[in-house]
Amino acid sequence: MSRIERVSVEVLETPVKLRYVAAGHAVESNWHVLARIDTADGVQGIGFAVANRGGLVKPLAAACQELGQLLVGMEALDIEAARAKLERAGGWVGPGGMVSMAISPLDIALWDAKGKSLGQPLYRLLGGYRDRIRAYASDAMWYSMPMDQLARSAQYHVSQGYKMLKLRLGHESKPEGEVARVRVVQEAAGAGVQVMVDATESWNEVQAIANGRALQEAGIVWLEDPVSHQNLQGLAQLARNLDIPIAAGEHLYGLDPFQKTLDARAVDIAIIDLARAGGITPWMKVAALAQGRGVPVAGHVVPEVHVHLLSAIPNGYLVEFMPRSELIFKTRLKLEDGHLVAPQGPGLGVELDEAAVERYRVG
Ligand SMILES: [Mg+2]
Repeated sequence: MSRIERVSVEVLETPVKLRYVAAGHAVESNWHVLARIDTADGVQGIGFAVANRGGLVKPLAAACQELGQLLVGMEALDIEAARAKLERAGGWVGPGGMVSMAISPLDIALWDAKGKSLGQPLYRLLGGYRDRIRAYASDAMWYSMPMDQLARSAQYHVSQGYKMLKLRLGHESKPEGEVARVRVVQEAAGAGVQVMVDATESWNEVQAIANGRALQEAGIVWLEDPVSHQNLQGLAQLARNLDIPIAAGEHLYGLDPFQKTLDARAVDIAIIDLARAGGITPWMKVAALAQGRGVPVAGHVVPEVHVHLLSAIPNGYLVEFMPRSELIFKTRLKLEDGHLVAPQGPGLGVELDEAAVERYRVG
């Protein structure tokens, strides 16, 4: 019997590890909303959402805690029923906002519990297309970094075994300036390493086409978020006029916005954010929508969960390695030949470091 007996939510603030701290970059902590779901048969599912801005984390945790109590007494394996209850309680009129993000840790915890109840790793439970997925590293390659730091960061990630790297751009006044930053990373990384660019929605359409053409010449793998995600026509125009793939989607909440984005042919690669999507259940549905359009899928941060989701599906393309949660887990993801390997343990297959959770708990 997998009846849910208890749902608890904690807030953790973890320091950014020294090797990732870049002068001039403001991120000094990561915050986690950690949900635990305990069932009558002694299983504990865990789920979490990660933020690098502290302000909204406590209200998010409060919403998660309050919604979570509605699950007590329900069957943990009936995830769609559990979600429907949470969505109704959140005044569900469509995807969006904090309700989606607050449901996300609970949804992940339900899937972790299901995997543990059935004794299967999540990637297999969700589809089992492969047991690993190609990875790219994207931490500490910020647009605010001076060139020498950018080069050192690229070298560091290559030394760790990454064969694909992503840097953020969008703040140089001319295309040549943006290209120069890409060249620094390409040269520091060496031959055989591929580079992609995230423009963090920094450009208007005119800038995006000029920068996109220059970056295309520089040989990047994808151009992410060149303009606002709300500018579907602009994105679609870029997708038509550039030869490199346009990647976008991390700011979208769930099925409906993705459907519109895919219908507009605005993305060549769909990036799905687990928290904004509302957890694993809607994430998988968005991925299926993309599959129907022949669009490959990548995950936005949270590699501990995305390694499973992207390994589960046929159109899983790349997992983003961003180690924001390393300090709260005992388990480390394994990188083999440029691929992150899905943990083989049941559920997420990662074990919390309870002493660390104790140390970093702030709510
Ligand atoms: Mg991005």
